[in-house]
Amino acid sequence: MSVAQQIESIKNSLPQGVELVAVSKYHPVEALREAYDAGQRLFGENRPQEMTAKAAVMPDDVRWMMIGHLQTNKVRMIMPYVAMIQSVDSARLTSCIDTEAARVGRTVDILMEVHVAAEQTKSGWDEQALVDYLQSDEFAALRNIRVRGIMGMATNTDNEAVIRADFEHLAAIRRRLAPLLGEQFDTLSMGMSDDWQLAVECGSTIIRVGSTIFGEREY
Ligand SMILES: *Cc1c(COP(=O)(O)O)cnc(C)c1O
Repeated sequence: MSVAQQIESIKNSLPQGVELVAVSKYHPVEALREAYDAGQRLFGENRPQEMTAKAAVMPDDVRWMMIGHLQTNKVRMIMPYVAMIQSVDSARLTSCIDTEAARVGRTVDILMEVHVAAEQTKSGWDEQALVDYLQSDEFAALRNIRVRGIMGMATNTDNEAVIRADFEHLAAIRRRLAPLLGEQFDTLSMGMSDDWQLAVECGSTIIRVGSTIFGEREY
């Protein structure tokens, strides 16, 4: 199937209110244009330089989502156009995003990346550390970010029961945090090429799909 057909096929099977991020990292601008022409507006990238280069040549109504580990010294670079930073994994990064957003007079939507997978390598907050941070004075002082929800990844396994348990865990964490953050906290980003159907069943509101749409990445 073509890029356009894949996007149409995924969107047709998403329930009302669930959004699709086309993860276009490592793919050339031509592939993004094809997706854009098929109506796709949310694009996910994981490297600031690559996102900047693509944003410069893609139409202005693309909503760019940072989904990869972000270094504080790269926040300023993406601030002019990033719509949402989904991979916020530390207090230091949160503060830095707030500072850089204030500098250019805007507010930025962010998701807190939470670690639930079995692998030690996956980044993200531990649940309790995040609960503590969201109740801290340090967090309360920030004015230029809006915490919209959480992002997470399931354990890398073929065992569907394990993946489902991880997604249900993420959904439970979002529900636990919701009273701390109010109505704006409505987003649960989970589900990738191999597991997005399961993620949607577990309450995902935004899925991040790369290889199914664009094919394998060449690193
Ligand atoms: C690369 C990536 C994806 C997309 O993965 P696919 O398996 O290609 O769909 C989703 N989320 C994050 C955080 C990623 O880094």
